[in-house]
Amino acid sequence: MTPHEFVKYTPATNCGECGYPACLAFAVAVTKGGVSPELCPYVHRENLTADIGPRQEDSGLNMVDRDQEERDMALVAHLKSKVRDLDFKSLGPRLGALWSADEPDALSFSYLGRSVTLGSETVSMADEQLVDPRDQILLYNYVAFGGGRIPDGTWVGMESLPNSISKIRTLATYCEQRLAKRFSGRAEKLAALCNEIGAVPGPVDQSADVGKVIPVLPNVPHYLLFWDEELEDGFEARVKVLFDHHVMDFLDLESLVFAAERMTDRLAELDV
Ligand code: SF4
Repeated sequence: MTPHEFVKYTPATNCGECGYPACLAFAVAVTKGGVSPELCPYVHRENLTADIGPRQEDSGLNMVDRDQEERDMALVAHLKSKVRDLDFKSLGPRLGALWSADEPDALSFSYLGRSVTLGSETVSMADEQLVDPRDQILLYNYVAFGGGRIPDGTWVGMESLPNSISKIRTLATYCEQRLAKRFSGRAEKLAALCNEIGAVPGPVDQSADVGKVIPVLPNVPHYLLFWDEELEDGFEARVKVLFDHHVMDFLDLESLVFAAERMTDRLAELDV
């Protein structure tokens, strides 16, 4: 069982009774370190549906996946420690986030059209704890960066961002090509789904069939351009995603590409 899977058996309250600061940290200790799950009084062993210890078949790709997950979780823990001492009240306006005196150690903001509440220990979306470490890395990074120059409508491609060569192909594979293939011949549907997650029309002088500015995060809009297929001329559908030229004030490249991947996932999820 992965930490990810195990954490679902906890109430995710981060109460600390097990001796760990957060349920996720406890889940890592149980699934990777052999710590007894009974240290958490709220986990009932009889409910666990699979072995929780390290797997016998850990090898090859399996191990690669798990190593990656461990690295991701270590990064989440590091980012949480980074945001712990930040002044959330003053940070809120810089990130387009809401701060409330009722919950001073948390910020609320929109993530692909859904409301997220991020605190120094947990992040939840629509009242459910977000457990995927990659989402957590993206959101904690957004807060840890501390804000910067707000988007001013100057759009650039990934290739114009510094040190981005290795990311251009990743963006194409996990976002642009997926969207082009999925929505080929369905430009109107794509436009409608973009609207569902809060998109607004992009600049008027563009040639694409769909041009939508999608607020992935409040200060990290993605400008999605879609040219539909033209069967008579033999053109396949094509997508290009642009970013504000100051986007790196808010995220690193890795998180930025992941944000585009999540935008793609979200559009695909809505396309039922
Ligand atoms: S005791 Fe259980 S609920 Fe409390 S932090 Fe530990 S794992 Fe989470």
